[in-house]
Amino acid sequence: MKADASAQQLLLDLQKLDTTAAQLDHRERTLVEQQELLALRTRIQRIHDEHVAAVVIAADLARDQARADADVEQVRERSRKDQHLLDSGTIGDPKQLQNLQHELQSLARRQSDLEDVELEIMERVDGAQAAVALLAEQHAEATAQEESLAAQVDALVAEIDAQRQVTIIDRSELASRVPADLLALYEKVRADHDGVGAAHLHRGQCGGCRLQLPPNEIERLRAIEPDEVVRCEECRRILVRTAESGL
Ligand SMILES: [Zn+2]
Repeated sequence: MKADASAQQLLLDLQKLDTTAAQLDHRERTLVEQQELLALRTRIQRIHDEHVAAVVIAADLARDQARADADVEQVRERSRKDQHLLDSGTIGDPKQLQNLQHELQSLARRQSDLEDVELEIMERVDGAQAAVALLAEQHAEATAQEESLAAQVDALVAEIDAQRQVTIIDRSELASRVPADLLALYEKVRADHDGVGAAHLHRGQCGGCRLQLPPNEIERLRAIEPDEVVRCEECRRILVRTAESGL
């Protein structure tokens, strides 16, 4: 393939722009802030799930406590009635009186047992409510952090986008000045070689694969007309010759 040396040299500028575009894409894909945001969102989801579970536990315990309160109250009420009956002096039968006193003692034991249960549940309710409050606080904190981080990511992506737009415009303008067949070759080689289609031959070294060309290869290139498109023997990229090529 033949192309003016100046047209071949345009490929080096085109390559620079394509490399810049690839770097911008890579930068956007690997933004540290973006990774942090994803990790934070996973954390927020976990806190949310834990909060939901803690609320359920606290509600269950609150029901248990209401039941325990009612149990204690029922026994107290029964004791009050019995005590009242005893104090009224209306029971004359000694057997009946003894039964009533026994019942009062048994009710007192029952009340004491139920109050122990009630106290234990109250402590668990306190613990559950504290867990709910702590998780709600963590959720609010993490959500505020997410908002600020998301804004940072948006700003960085917008900045990258703006640079990309400039690169796209410059590239399009430059590509329009490269002969179609040379551009097609460049695109094909670029697609097959990690995004690098054109390499500068600089002081005898291929800018694509970094190979220092052997003297016989330099000799061969020296004999080739400037408008002949040459490829690196090693990496097959288009080898662009300039005044700094060392030929
Ligand atoms: Zn090479």
